[in-house]
Amino acid sequence: MTELDKFHRTLEAGECLFHEGEPGNCAYVLESGRMEVSTGRGEARVVLATVGPGALLGEMALINNQPRMATLTATEPTRLVMITRDYLSERLETADPMLRHILRVVLTRFREVVNQVHGGRREGEYEARMLADREEDQRDGQMAMKRLRIEQQLEMALDNRELELFYQPILRVADRSVSGFEALIRWRKPDGEMVPPAKFIPIAEQSNLMRRIGYWITDTAIAALARLQATSQQTQPGQPPLTMSINLSVRQFGDPDLFPCLQNSLADHQVDPRQVRLEITESMLFDSWELALGLLNQAKELGCRLAIDDFGTGYSSLSYLHRFPVDTLKIDQCFVREMFANQASRTIVRTMGVLARDLGMDCIAEGIEEQAQGDALRKMGIEYVQGFFYGKPMPEAEVVKYLHAQGIAA
Ligand code: C2E
Ligand code: CA
Ligand code: CA
Repeated sequence: MTELDKFHRTLEAGECLFHEGEPGNCAYVLESGRMEVSTGRGEARVVLATVGPGALLGEMALINNQPRMATLTATEPTRLVMITRDYLSERLETADPMLRHILRVVLTRFREVVNQVHGGRREGEYEARMLADREEDQRDGQMAMKRLRIEQQLEMALDNRELELFYQPILRVADRSVSGFEALIRWRKPDGEMVPPAKFIPIAEQSNLMRRIGYWITDTAIAALARLQATSQQTQPGQPPLTMSINLSVRQFGDPDLFPCLQNSLADHQVDPRQVRLEITESMLFDSWELALGLLNQAKELGCRLAIDDFGTGYSSLSYLHRFPVDTLKIDQCFVREMFANQASRTIVRTMGVLARDLGMDCIAEGIEEQAQGDALRKMGIEYVQGFFYGKPMPEAEVVKYLHAQGIAA
């Protein structure tokens, strides 16, 4: 038997695939031929339907271990593809919990209705099996509900202005002057709890909410940049214009309104596009190559800068770098963190710096927490640094104070 045959069944005309009441643990898709779906035996036999290619058969067995609800007989030579429970479980595991929950509920309800219509002969058994499945159903249901609740709260948070941007400074390591900021989102709940992005961005990304949040982020960050630029000119006249790095989500790829919104924000707040740096991660690039390329080219046309975030963590080939119009590499924090403990990390950081320089790109090292790390990076020729040692992400009011302090120190 070839590997593929394991997943196929062929039947002659008149041959039965399964009988009503038999235990079942897989479903079938009818690839070619025809089958008759019937219930009851002998004189009480009723043909419910005749099905052809594309029909899904016996799917209830996948959902809750139910015995077959009908008899399936080939009326001509027929070929079927098997869908095993393992296969479905694997697919369901990675599916959105809400979809999973809805699928289970809909199929269970459907089965209840069919049972009632056909006299509910196996009701006792059915109840017992429902109880066995209930714990899993409840877990999925709870997960789906939790996610839905956060999604709804988040939508309200956007309307109620509970979302906030913090700004973390990016410095020139040579003289510690401020080159710009990275906008990092926070959710301040009404009870004062501060929710970090890792807790809600992935949920927003499951729906179109991320696009709406994305417009808000872009406009808020650009408006802040205009104000911070004015402060910087007061505190340190003659400094080069500040930049604002904005993180993009994969959900914003392919959004036709992203660039019109960006353009409007730039015009409204009179910000030069070259002051805006859009950050995307390597994994985002490779998950949606075509969309990413379209987006990056649009960003370039507009005049914005582009950065590859978390560089070194996502993709093993570097050949993409010359195909994408990238201006900046951001060395991931993990390499900086391990720089002193691990010679390989030090070599990787140095090599990334050389790579960026040779390709004519800027290079920012992230996650600097100690003076010694900054000093080592400077010696390696890394130009820009970002990390708690130089400044944590802060609300705009604190950034203004930070810029004043910088001006005094200069
Ligand atoms: P990221 O873009 O890599 O952002 C850098 C993260 O590292 C931030 O975490 C920042 O607070 C943290 N960080 C900075 N310096 C240090 C340091 O010296 N040590 C340590 N341990 N951490 C440092 P945060 O703000 O929690 O953001 C986490 C991730 O959430 C971001 O990673 C980004 O992927 C995502 N994110 C944040 N804001 C936004 C946003 O506005 N839009 C989108 N799409 N994603 C965002
Ligand atoms: Ca980032
Ligand atoms: Ca990063």
